[in-house]
Amino acid sequence: MTKKQFKAESKRLLEMMINSIYTQKEIFLRELISNASDAIDKMYYKALTDDSITFNKDEYYIKVAADKDNRTLTITDTGIGMTKEELEANLGTIAKSGSLAFKTENESQDGHDIIGQFGVGFYSAFMVADQVTVVTRSIGSEEAFKWQSDGAEGYTIELAEKDSVGTIIELKMKESTEEENYDEFLEEFRLKAIIKKYSDFIRYPIKMDVVERSLKEGSDNEWDEYTEEQTINSMVPIWRKNKSELTDEDYDHFYQEKHYGFDKPLKHIHISVDGAVRYNAILYIPENIPFDYYSKEYEKGLELYSNGVLIMNKCADLLPDHFSFVKGMVDSEDLSLNISREILQHDRQLKLIAKNINNKIKSGLQSLLKDEREKYETFYNAFGRQLKYGVYTDFGANKEALQDLLMFYSSTEKKMVTLQEYVSRMPEDQKYIYYATGESNERIEKLPQIEVVTDKGYEVLYFTEDIDEFAIKMLQTYKEKEFRSVSSGDLGIENEESNENNATEEQSHKELLDKMKEILAGKVKDVRASKRLKTHPVCLSADGEVTIEMEKILQAMPD
Ligand code: ADP
Ligand code: MG
Repeated sequence: MTKKQFKAESKRLLEMMINSIYTQKEIFLRELISNASDAIDKMYYKALTDDSITFNKDEYYIKVAADKDNRTLTITDTGIGMTKEELEANLGTIAKSGSLAFKTENESQDGHDIIGQFGVGFYSAFMVADQVTVVTRSIGSEEAFKWQSDGAEGYTIELAEKDSVGTIIELKMKESTEEENYDEFLEEFRLKAIIKKYSDFIRYPIKMDVVERSLKEGSDNEWDEYTEEQTINSMVPIWRKNKSELTDEDYDHFYQEKHYGFDKPLKHIHISVDGAVRYNAILYIPENIPFDYYSKEYEKGLELYSNGVLIMNKCADLLPDHFSFVKGMVDSEDLSLNISREILQHDRQLKLIAKNINNKIKSGLQSLLKDEREKYETFYNAFGRQLKYGVYTDFGANKEALQDLLMFYSSTEKKMVTLQEYVSRMPEDQKYIYYATGESNERIEKLPQIEVVTDKGYEVLYFTEDIDEFAIKMLQTYKEKEFRSVSSGDLGIENEESNENNATEEQSHKELLDKMKEILAGKVKDVRASKRLKTHPVCLSADGEVTIEMEKILQAMPD
């Protein structure tokens, strides 16, 4: 039998993993159990949508068994199984090459950490095993197949015997060394603890043969030992649990189990709605920007469950664009199971849920801003731009809510402030909310135009991103205060007296100003004497709606 090579990228990832000294090796079990659970989900889904198959809940389970003498750990499931082709496609190559792209881009970082954090899936078995054997039989197939691999060298596939549909994964555990202990993964108490920690909410029973002891009848020091098959997990999905029963760690574990991101979530939002529309949801605000977030490849969406059965991996209709960074899942009893994507788009229930979710995320972010400012700023650093795009593109009611989530750097506070904070500090005689645009805070600070405003003691907001001014233009006002660029013609500051002065000034320098106009003809509309300048000789200012910065951006845009 010839040995097949893994696809190149799989091989690299395998090597990385095998050679890694990553401490959380225990996650391999989480990965294998989650695959088993997925496989049963697929079976369940098939049964629900195909009348020729019945799903008898008792027959569906995952079993974990350790054999210390042979140093093997087996994970058996009664899920949908794999055909030979599927074995080849699923275990011979890495499904999520995106993870690898991420890894390559961040090569300079400490690789060990990253490995344990994203969905390494099936391959994580090689962190603890020298050899992995998969025996599987797919639904509707009479044949079973055995896939076997010793790691990076490749794998073999051959015909095998298996009576029932499902998959058995056998790990031949590595020998422990002085530095590394693998024996622990053959210990009953340790396995139970890992299952509890990561897989408690899995909806199918995870069974183990557990050795129990009880006192011999009529004795107080002699014990009977017997083995009993027990279900280790509580099987209640985390989203159906009471918030009060759950810790931050539980939510973090779920985030990792689901591979929502490589990071730790900044915040979770757990929703249970039982009204006109009923649903449960667990949503997360990630800490870091997904590597492909600001690219075309990025797909927004939430996992969609219908009464506990996963029906869609990324339901885009559940998330507005301005919150496309949110990760998580939604479970609703009110959705039909064999609903197609097209129908789903027009589903009234789904629309209601989406609207509700939008509001919950909004208030979640608002409370983060109010109660955990530092975390909010971390969030805003990563995803603030998306909120501004939201303000810019939304013509509806969202603008109201989104504007309160915006932050800009302030000339007086020397930190990020909200519009609400700005307005609350405005002196009575200040008419406008002032802003200045530029490449960086340092550059803006040195703008000639800014002095006249800051000298008045007024606060100026610094706009350093292209989108800032466009978004503000869409808002027009905040709390009835108009926005005004420091480079605009009318700042609402100059008083009568200075206008008069200006006129005399203009008179006395007429010759100079005319000469300048002549030289700059076609480049500027007018050259005037200004009262605005203090330490700078000249500045550019714009008349009308479009500021100089906006003009630059508009000109740089492709037609
Ligand atoms: P992921 O679960 O993210 O797709 P994995 O590396 O964990 O990635 O698994 C790769 C694929 O192998 C799965 O998508 C699935 O198709 C298949 N697979 C793994 N384990 C099982 C199993 N126990 N039963 C059926 N299919 C499986
Ligand atoms: Mg997996």
